[in-house]
Amino acid sequence: VVRVSDVIKHFVHGKRQLRALDGVSFELPEGRFLVVVGPSGCGKTTLLRILAGLEQQDSGEVWMRPSRDGHPPFAMVFQEQSVFPWLTVRDNVAYGLKLRRVRGRQVEERASHWIRKVGLSGFERAYPHQLSGGMKQRVSIARAFAVDPDVLLMDEPFSALDEQMRTILQQEVSSLCEEQQKTVIFVTHSIDEALTLGDEVLVMTHRPGRVKRVIPVPFPRPRDVVEVRADPRYG
Ligand code: ATP
Repeated sequence: VVRVSDVIKHFVHGKRQLRALDGVSFELPEGRFLVVVGPSGCGKTTLLRILAGLEQQDSGEVWMRPSRDGHPPFAMVFQEQSVFPWLTVRDNVAYGLKLRRVRGRQVEERASHWIRKVGLSGFERAYPHQLSGGMKQRVSIARAFAVDPDVLLMDEPFSALDEQMRTILQQEVSSLCEEQQKTVIFVTHSIDEALTLGDEVLVMTHRPGRVKRVIPVPFPRPRDVVEVRADPRYG
């Protein structure tokens, strides 16, 4: 459902050209949860932005299966501040539905359904400043799921949360994605998070934009990682 082939991207810094992505390739079948992990500055966000069409690659191909209704086949969840502060929880969740011209009754039904699914029933009329960080991320998650995208693009959605909330939301998002059979590309700098969530993990290196290895399924549990690294098939 997603194919990325030899994508190269440079940014210009003064007189220097920085290679942010250095020939990234992968294929992601439908319903898989891919985590892109790597240190700060290795190009994770750039890759996600290219997938979302927010940035144009210099060369290489990016392909995502078009959606049936002609709308973008993906929805995004960002690290923070991606809920609209001037809209209530209900209007934030309904936002994408209105853009997609979903009709009145259905907007109500789908928004309430997703508000309930993320555990925010009773907060429909609250504004983001009245919510905790975790609750705001729940709003972003509900807004993304509400438009029923084929693909979810998530950029460090839990990194601003405390550990307890992060663990809870990781579990919730993981089971929602499984239940809804979403294809997910999830960026994080945390190897723990990658191990917890990923069906597959794409590891990017310090040298910007290089993919070091793609660890395939069946995904190893943390205690198995040493063995996986030792396996010559994985370099
Ligand atoms: P982090 O985990 O810190 O968010 P990242 O792995 O997501 O890092 P990117 O944000 O993709 O990394 O950045 C990769 C490189 O490209 C960095 O060196 C960054 O400075 C550079 N870069 C990213 N966006 C731009 C831009 N719009 N203009 C210039 N340079 C950029």
